[in-house]
This record gives sequence, structure tokens and C-alpha cells, in this order.
Amino acid sequence: MRNLGVSGDLFVLNISRKIGIHFQRNVCICVSLLVIPGIYGCYTPPTITTMTPLKTRERVITTPNPPKRMKPYIVTQLDRYFVRGWKHIVIHHSASASGSAAEFDRFHREKRGWENGLGYHFVIGNGNGTRDGEIEIGNRWINQIAGAHAGVEEYNHYGIGICLVGNFNQSSPTAAQMASLSVLVEYLQNRCHIAPEDVIMHRHCRQTDCPGRNFPYYKLLANTYF
Ligand SMILES: [Zn+2]
Repeated sequence: MRNLGVSGDLFVLNISRKIGIHFQRNVCICVSLLVIPGIYGCYTPPTITTMTPLKTRERVITTPNPPKRMKPYIVTQLDRYFVRGWKHIVIHHSASASGSAAEFDRFHREKRGWENGLGYHFVIGNGNGTRDGEIEIGNRWINQIAGAHAGVEEYNHYGIGICLVGNFNQSSPTAAQMASLSVLVEYLQNRCHIAPEDVIMHRHCRQTDCPGRNFPYYKLLANTYF
């Protein structure tokens, strides 16, 4: 009976220990469940404040920039030269089917005997001699000296001579020639402060049919050629 009594006590003791351990585990789990949300609750990340700058940055990056107008190559070229005072722009045709600044320069030196050569300040090609619409800058513009194109002193000395290759009694200037002429005239007007009424055809200052009856003068002035 005594042995049985000791065994009974040990049995009761073991049961008590197991109940105690089980109770401690439950307490620990319960405490953990309370503590973990408490910890994470204290470190709630400031999600709204960090997302707002990102959205702002994205909006700035994706906003399209306004298109920039390309500066024509000829304008970059002409900006290099110093200009003296000019009052007029005089437009001519070459009265020939083809030609170039070099060809006219040779003709003016050899046949006319002009030591400064090419009488115009600019030549605009039609594809026969140079590229269609190509603007060639004569040495009289580079050196800012008077032209030999108008046959009138005032317009030679103060007039910028522009010659378009072609005979515009028989044909018309090409679209590329007119586009180049428009850019060139606008540039020269702005650079030299020349009013629209001082942009003239050769026949406005001398008895001649230059630059031909098909030259679209009023469309050039109104900039409605195209
Ligand atoms: Zn002329």
C-alpha cells in the first residue's frame, strides 16, 4: 500500500507538472499574439508620404516637352557673317535652264570683266547645276560689298541680290527654291531690318521682265506659296 501510495504521489506530481507546462505554453502563445500586433502597430510605414513624391516625379518625366523649331542650316551659316547697312532685297531669275554660283561667277568675271565676280549675293539652285533649293552664298555677301545685279546705283549699293536659277517666263520656280527663298528673305529682313515693301522684283527698279512672268511674287510676300 505504501509503495502504491508513493507511486500515486509521483503520478499526481507528473500530472501537475504537465498541466503546469501546458499552462505556461498557452500563456506564452497568448502573450505573443498580443505583443506581435503591438510591435508592428508601432512601426506602421508612412506609405502615403513615400508614394506621393514618386507619383509627382513620374508625372514630370512623362509630361511631353513642347516641340522645338529646327533652325535651318543656312541661318546658322549666315549668323557667322557681320552685316553692314542694307535697304532692299532684289529678286532675279537667271533666265537660263541651269546654273550655279560658280558658273555665273565665271561668266561675270570673264565676259563682263567684273573683278569681284558673281554679281549676286545669293544663288538658289533648281537641281540643274546644284541641288534643288540649295542656297549658295556669294563672295559679295561674305565680304559685304555692293552687288552688280540691278543696273541702278541705289539698288546695287544697298540692295541684296538673290538669283533663282531658271527662266520663269517658260517655267516656274520649284517648291524647294521657293521654300529656300522664303527662309532666306525672312532671315535677311530680320537681320538687316528691311520692310516688306523693300522686298522687290528686279522689274520694279529697272525696265526688264526679270524674274519672269511666272514668279509668284505676291504669294512670297504673303507667305502663301504652299
Ligand atoms: Zn534680274
